[in-house]
Amino acid sequence: MNVALFGGTFDPIHRGHLAVAKAAQHDYGLKQILFIPSGAPPHKHDPALTPFIHRYAMVALAISGQAGMTPSLVESPHELGNRPAYSIDTVRRIRATLKATDRLFFIIGIDAFLDIAKWHQPEAVLRETEFIVASRPGYSLGDLGDALPESLRPPEPVRRALRNQAAKGEIVLPGITIHLLPEVTEHVSATHVRKAAARSGSQLRSLVGPAVADYIHKTGLYRNTVQTGHDSATPKVLQMTPRRRQKTI
Ligand code: ATP
Repeated sequence: MNVALFGGTFDPIHRGHLAVAKAAQHDYGLKQILFIPSGAPPHKHDPALTPFIHRYAMVALAISGQAGMTPSLVESPHELGNRPAYSIDTVRRIRATLKATDRLFFIIGIDAFLDIAKWHQPEAVLRETEFIVASRPGYSLGDLGDALPESLRPPEPVRRALRNQAAKGEIVLPGITIHLLPEVTEHVSATHVRKAAARSGSQLRSLVGPAVADYIHKTGLYRNTVQTGHDSATPKVLQMTPRRRQKTI
């Protein structure tokens, strides 16, 4: 059986996440995708992050009715206690529930992948899962090669050659496989959604779907986003800078 983890802050989940999940489900025959709202950042509390319970509720609403997509509590405060939310721990906890013959995949956007070398035990995460990286226009295979932890990075001449190749296909190195998911062009980010919610909310339904839009409206989430000013309003497709999730992996 093919199973995938899809982690994120999901603050909130939006149609870009769903598009990536559906494409990965289709292309890799995934029987189960676990949507994992991220737990606490390893070193400090992030006051800008919406409480886990709301992020989880919105994930559950968004994927309700989607076959093979399940919300996961594996990084909930209840499960983690005071422990930091490291991807390697999550991977191992999920792996422990699977059969030896099951394949475990790790779904991630290419912009988040570019920070993988800064993760806790990135080599182990790469060895213990097959990555499915959602590609974007403008990225090359060389970008992925350059982003790998030093111990796994291909030699410079190889990476130089990869820089001329668009980020598609796959990268196979001893012990690791990275699949590139063809571009999923949903021009939306959670930052953009939070801004839209703070402004008027009229755009929300098209960005997050009716159930999540209704939840945001009823709970008043993100109403003060503009005033607190901790976000940039740039839609994800234009974003090239590191984002908040990198603190949690
Ligand atoms: P924020 O705007 O707060 O940084 P986000 O929209 O990136 O949030 P996350 O929960 O951080 O949402 O994203 C989870 C994963 O989904 C990340 O790997 C990210 O790269 C990927 N992702 C998010 N939006 C898109 C999108 N529109 N297309 C492809 N991948 C996306």
